[in-house]
Amino acid sequence: MSAIKFARWSVALPCLAAGIVVSVPATSVAQQAPPRARAAAAAPAPWFGVPLPPARGGVPAVLVGPRGVRPAIVPPAEAKFHELDGASIRTDLETIVGFSKESRASQEIGSGQLWGRITGYPSSAKTIEWAAEQFRKAGIAEVKVQPMTQDPQAKLFLPTAWELKVLGDPAYGPGTADVNLESAMPVGTDIPGGTLTAPMVLVGSSNPAFAPLIDVKGKIAVLVVVPQAHMVFDRATVSPRTQDLMKRGAVAVLTVLRHPGNEYAKDLGGCGGPCFNVGGRDGFFLERVLDRAASAGATPVRAQLTMKSETKTNLRAENAVATIPGRSPEVIVLDAHADAWFDGAGDNGDGLAVLIALARHFGKPENRPDRTLVLIASAGHHTTGLNGPRGFIAANPDLVKRAVLVVNIEHVAQRNFGPGRSVAADGYREFVADSGEAPITAGITNESPYLNELFQQGVARYGTNFVSEPSPMLSGETGGFTSMNVALITIMQAPPLYHTTGETLDVISTPGLERMARFLAYFVKQAGKAQATAINPPGSTPRRSAEPEDR
Ligand SMILES: [Zn+2]
Repeated sequence: MSAIKFARWSVALPCLAAGIVVSVPATSVAQQAPPRARAAAAAPAPWFGVPLPPARGGVPAVLVGPRGVRPAIVPPAEAKFHELDGASIRTDLETIVGFSKESRASQEIGSGQLWGRITGYPSSAKTIEWAAEQFRKAGIAEVKVQPMTQDPQAKLFLPTAWELKVLGDPAYGPGTADVNLESAMPVGTDIPGGTLTAPMVLVGSSNPAFAPLIDVKGKIAVLVVVPQAHMVFDRATVSPRTQDLMKRGAVAVLTVLRHPGNEYAKDLGGCGGPCFNVGGRDGFFLERVLDRAASAGATPVRAQLTMKSETKTNLRAENAVATIPGRSPEVIVLDAHADAWFDGAGDNGDGLAVLIALARHFGKPENRPDRTLVLIASAGHHTTGLNGPRGFIAANPDLVKRAVLVVNIEHVAQRNFGPGRSVAADGYREFVADSGEAPITAGITNESPYLNELFQQGVARYGTNFVSEPSPMLSGETGGFTSMNVALITIMQAPPLYHTTGETLDVISTPGLERMARFLAYFVKQAGKAQATAINPPGSTPRRSAEPEDR
């Protein structure tokens, strides 16, 4: 755990530049001694005195202090299932994140600014091979690595090198030098000619009610988004607003995400032009500089964007599929996607590590399941035109025909965190982990009361932090299973660091991994014995959520 502490300021920031007059209400002045120091403005400083943002990765997104996570609840009769212990699952999670770290160190994509377990690239193939090996070592006789190819028309577009520089000018204070905003992440199209320089204009949330009042022609529009949770929730709002800015003549859009820390965020694309996300601390700097420049009547601040990219077609990928024959030929499918942007400890390293633990548990002859169990370490869904679940369905018509239930294990053991009672050196609020996991939604598409009851039991029996309201939601990886007309379950957290570089091992709860693995072992045993009509009640029509696919 890296609980890196950094300097904090608990006092107001001395940041006014020369020439900016502070207005103090007359009544207040009248009640005070004649001001002495007020006449002498703060010494001129670079960037209007706004503190520079930290380097990306220089500070943790979330403070993880020495207080641990509340322990897992283990029913006495289940204590012997050591393959479900948190420590053992965490070891696997470290291995899984290791494939991402290797992708970064080897510069698998371009300059190494982007990394992950990327489907179609060796980092994903190695993760799938490793998962298949774990299935075999668990004693499962039937393990297949099943290849698939990218849809013929599909293209994977990846930025390979980029930079976002805010251009300095002595007018902003003596010594004002260019600042590289290191959390910038391209999420739009290429920049014609590879580079672009233009003045920036802050457009706030760019609500349609006032967006047309701001002239963005020839400028880089700076949009501000306060994510409510994972960025999936903001896609439907942000995408049309960025597109509108481009249509009204902006040459690029920067989307400031008021996220914890200063992280890359790979989401919220589709602006129809060059657009970059900017992390929390960089965005805080940028917003304040643009505000100060406007207040001072200074020349508009300019930015320079540069970018290179590659586009891939005809990619190949694999699923690892393990079948554990049960007493009944009917099938329960357990799926976890292996692909990830960046370290992906939470999306979806934790889900995959839990899946491997379940393979070890049910691979033991004494734990033979009632219904046949099919475990998929899936190629996932981040790479356009390659989809693990769809590949599974195409390659395994017999298993699909026998399936009664699909459970997608996706983002399941990240710690919860919230705004802390402290700010960092630049004044940005710190975020701090608490002693439990982030809320977990269990979406059950057919709303089976029996399946829902098992999730109710999970809270009391294992301490899993399932949200209080049942839900028919379907998201992420589950999207690829929608052609199967059976109950589809999505077990998913939606914390804000998803698809960012902030989702590291530090923010994963080891007891949370254990809670989820033990709950799912129990769930599979109960669902294995249940009547088929309890799992799929006759006449139940799966409701489909409108949540966009998790790319
Ligand atoms: Zn995911």
